[in-house]
Amino acid sequence: MTEAQGGGSTHIDVVCPFCGLGCDDVSLKIDGLAVEAGEGACGRAAALFRRSQASNPAPRVGGSDASLDEAIAAAADLLAGARAPFHAGLGTDVDGVRAVIKLAGKVGGGVDHYASAGLFRNLSTAQRKGWVATTLAEVRNRCDLLVVVGPDPSESFHRLYDRVTPAKGRFVEGVRRVVFLGGEPTAEAKTQLAGAKVETISVPEGGLVDCLSRLHALVAGTPAASGDPDIGPLATSLKAAKYGVLAWSAASLGSDGDLVVERAAAVVDALNVETRAACLPLAGRDNLIGANQTFLWNVGFPLRTAFSGGVASHDQTLNATEAALAEADVLVWTSSFRPELPPESDARLIAIAHPATKFEREPDVFIPVGQPGLDHAGLAFRTDTVVAIPLGKHRDSGLPSVADVLKRILEQHR
Ligand code: SF4
Repeated sequence: MTEAQGGGSTHIDVVCPFCGLGCDDVSLKIDGLAVEAGEGACGRAAALFRRSQASNPAPRVGGSDASLDEAIAAAADLLAGARAPFHAGLGTDVDGVRAVIKLAGKVGGGVDHYASAGLFRNLSTAQRKGWVATTLAEVRNRCDLLVVVGPDPSESFHRLYDRVTPAKGRFVEGVRRVVFLGGEPTAEAKTQLAGAKVETISVPEGGLVDCLSRLHALVAGTPAASGDPDIGPLATSLKAAKYGVLAWSAASLGSDGDLVVERAAAVVDALNVETRAACLPLAGRDNLIGANQTFLWNVGFPLRTAFSGGVASHDQTLNATEAALAEADVLVWTSSFRPELPPESDARLIAIAHPATKFEREPDVFIPVGQPGLDHAGLAFRTDTVVAIPLGKHRDSGLPSVADVLKRILEQHR
């Protein structure tokens, strides 16, 4: 919805695409090219939406300004001579991901999202053992005991508790409890949790897997070794809860994150024998979840899939960005939500990227693109995977989308 105002306009109920919570109550004040976020935007969203009246940079080829046509031709030329291209970043909407898949299918090479490490931690448990996962709305309406496993996810998902633990849940009787297991709520989180009973259980460094293993044994009714901390009272509370939820942000778990996720999912499984419980596995920055979903329905494999001779093959180790870049000779970097930097690499660089990106090394080809949800409409996925969030166009910047640019590069590919 838009309201005209003096020299500009105010757009209300704007959907925010950045962290995966998909807050849809953000207001934006637009005046020409300038953008200022107001109500509903967390600090991260306000910084990422902010734009000045300064005009956007021109595309560049070899460090010199070029027309869009020249930059597209140069990118197509570079890809025509590529022996081992790799497609990374992938910070784009669903149409942009589709276009990356089409380009990679034609020119070859693997595809990964820059923030996929946490997603694969979650997927490794979901693929091997399955899990009972829930949605943001279910937590909000039904969860009477939320256990936050590991570091506070609201450091990355800023309005998390505003969204999932308001003082009153539709079907929650009494005061909601939130227990931080092995982490501390941030000051902002404490404010958002004002209506809930908040507790913290300290866990010695590296002790989260052991702690969750003992919790699993206790809720499953099998003998559990004693240890530090005493996890018995939490097990009792979870068994007594009507709808317990274990939430985590896999990206912020340590090197044993895979095991933490596996044990947390096992606790939820055991609880479901006698009561109701679910996991809330958080991941999703810059449409990570949408990129993975788009891969699943278009290719049949998740991210970290490579194309060669028209055949797709998935390998989550070999096709991870860092590993694949050791062999790549051309890196196609896409990042339209924020000025994320491409990883260090000796590969030639085609950057289809946010106009404010400050590169550490000048790309061979740089094409500035618009942000989905500001400069053009598009679709992204929320962190709980069940909702595709429609992103709107709120200003005329003249910047093309990632999908537009990649389609034109593909048309010119020989
Ligand atoms: S919490 Fe996430 S979705 Fe909500 S305003 Fe902040 S960055 Fe945007």
